[in-house]
Amino acid sequence: MMRLTFPALIFLLCLTGCLTFPVSHDSDESDLSDEDLFFAERYLNTIYSPESSPAGMFKRRGKGSLESKIRQMQDFFGLEVTGKLDDDTINIMKKPRCGVPDLAQYNLFPRNLKWSMNNLTYRIMNYTPDLSHPEVDRAIKKALKVWSDVTPLNFTRLRSGTADIMISFGRKEHGDFYPFDGPNGFLAHAFPPGQGMGGDTHFDDDETWSSDSRGYNLFIVAAHEFGHALGLEHSADPGALMFPVYTFTETNKFWLPDDDVQGIQSLYGPGDQDPYAKHPITPDKCDPELSIDAITGLRGEMLIFRDRFFWRQHPQMTDSELVLIKSFWPDLPNKIDAAYENPINDRMLIFKGRKFWALNGYEILEGYPRKLYELGFPKTLRTIDAVVHITDTGKTFFFTGNKFWSYDEETKTIDKGYPRLIEDEFSGIGDKVEAAYERNGYIYFFKGPMQFVYGIWSRRVVRVMRTNTILSC
Ligand SMILES: [Zn+2]
Ligand SMILES: [Zn+2]
Repeated sequence: MMRLTFPALIFLLCLTGCLTFPVSHDSDESDLSDEDLFFAERYLNTIYSPESSPAGMFKRRGKGSLESKIRQMQDFFGLEVTGKLDDDTINIMKKPRCGVPDLAQYNLFPRNLKWSMNNLTYRIMNYTPDLSHPEVDRAIKKALKVWSDVTPLNFTRLRSGTADIMISFGRKEHGDFYPFDGPNGFLAHAFPPGQGMGGDTHFDDDETWSSDSRGYNLFIVAAHEFGHALGLEHSADPGALMFPVYTFTETNKFWLPDDDVQGIQSLYGPGDQDPYAKHPITPDKCDPELSIDAITGLRGEMLIFRDRFFWRQHPQMTDSELVLIKSFWPDLPNKIDAAYENPINDRMLIFKGRKFWALNGYEILEGYPRKLYELGFPKTLRTIDAVVHITDTGKTFFFTGNKFWSYDEETKTIDKGYPRLIEDEFSGIGDKVEAAYERNGYIYFFKGPMQFVYGIWSRRVVRVMRTNTILSC
């Protein structure tokens, strides 16, 4: 049996709410507290360990083996592969997640990956006290439907006897030698298709389960776990349902991401009728047609927004990390319009529709979102397309349609004489802007797959490039 989760012994994992992401810097492992080191070792031995076994897991292993697991993990999550427990690595380890290992090839047994029949049964063995029985029933049914919608699979509920997928809630040791770990940390696990425990799905009842955004949403976790129960591995695509880290997403309009559709259909083929034929595709940074929604600096990093995601670009790295907006800021919308950083007061502002949010580092400030008109814009203004802050002048330019405004950060007012036409002031960039940032006296304007580099002092476009060059493509 290769599905492993192990108990948290000493301390609780960081709560979702305290996941903050400081500016990344390489920290030497000697800077880590014993607690963090112990935690990291336990995490790696559970999730990245071919030789994990309940008896052997707390033996201290050689540095080389721990380092190679850190490398595997950093590679899986698209982090800089250093083999060191830097802040970014520890922060990802502390996110709530599925208890199934990330690397299939490190499972103890070869995988027999799918059910041989399309008609499967499930049985809900017990209930969590957090939700009513009908709420649990609905979440489970809906989570199975995510998969039956895109495959020939059918699920029938049994109320007695043995079903293919036995579903239960349990705490700590709950009958399979893979104990849960108390609140947060590992949330659930499921066994791959097979006899006996095969397909069985267990939820940690030390979590707070919900049918909304509080605690952990049972539907989202169940849909992920049933992916395992049907034979799927974890995906390294941060947009996939089968990505191992928990992120709350809107459940009323849940669309199974394309990566998961490809995965499950490679096992079972497509179904007759897919009610949601449009499945979100994770953006490919090197797509020559790549366009972006917003771009901003943040304490030396670049954040490049596209759909539900943003890339974090570290100054010294060629590679960038793709993450879900919701995984950093559950309270921000799924897609944003514009963003900029004002380094003077160390604030990042994020715009969506008529609302905007102010962030200090990675923390949303209290009292937000606020409305655009509170900055002095007309109440009729519905959206901001792009915004760029010019460090030297302390002015911020807001773009909407073919117009733009100049905003003075010191007086906190819109300058007289605005809005003006974009093409009157920034000739050569066209009459619409989708994203912009400034660096060293140049404004980089993005529109569709192209970016225009505009010299502030020479007042002309000095270069035109593909948008994806910002991501080193
Ligand atoms: Zn999982
Ligand atoms: Zn279990």
